[in-house]
Amino acid sequence: MAKTRYRQIEKIEAKENIGSYGAWRRELCGKYRELLVQTRNNSYNTLVKTLAAKGETVACRKGCTYCCFHYVAVPLTHGMAIVDYLYDRKELLKQFISNYEKWRHKGCDISNVIDHTRSHAFSSSMPINDIIAVTRPPAIRYLQMGIPCPFLVNDTCLIYAVRPLPCSGQYSVTPPDWCNPEAGEKAVIYQLVSDDEDLLKILQLADPQLMLYELTLPIMIYKLLTEGASLIMADAGYRLPK
Ligand code: SF4
Repeated sequence: MAKTRYRQIEKIEAKENIGSYGAWRRELCGKYRELLVQTRNNSYNTLVKTLAAKGETVACRKGCTYCCFHYVAVPLTHGMAIVDYLYDRKELLKQFISNYEKWRHKGCDISNVIDHTRSHAFSSSMPINDIIAVTRPPAIRYLQMGIPCPFLVNDTCLIYAVRPLPCSGQYSVTPPDWCNPEAGEKAVIYQLVSDDEDLLKILQLADPQLMLYELTLPIMIYKLLTEGASLIMADAGYRLPK
């Protein structure tokens, strides 16, 4: 089963690299990754300075994984950048596929509910705060189910360099154990705020349609690996570069 799945992924990867579409895809993913790292570093440095001015420091440490049990969604462009990263790291790709098979039994149904709710909210032009309000209850249910992200192996993120923005967007200044939902203490969390100019560079990189198409992280990555970005974009009505 795993071998058949892996052969299918190899076929899709070959298709994803063909001709001018393949060149466009690789260039987009490379630029996206570059901007992602730059944006993340800039906003992290700003946060550290802001905290230092208040006498606080980031408490998040390697090996602390409470964040990796939360529901995480990614836009298509970010998903493509992760898949491109996995194409160059086949051992990580295989590890993801094997973990995904376990994840989907517990995480797929609830994730589909959240994806459907968000997509419906987007298409009815709901204000962002209302979208957050309708997706919050199922996202809390997801956290309560205790499902580890399929990219989490030995308390380490397999795709740390290209992890989604929600994974690198929150930092605690209280002891890491306070992030445990069962801890009696309430963690103090700060959100990373990206510079408008940095964000604009990312948004201008690709068609906004590609950034608006969002799915649960594991579902997006599995879909991209087994179907290919070109097919998903065509289904979403996106005109592919010739
Ligand atoms: S992608 Fe990495 S950082 Fe984000 S939830 Fe998964 S394992 Fe954790």
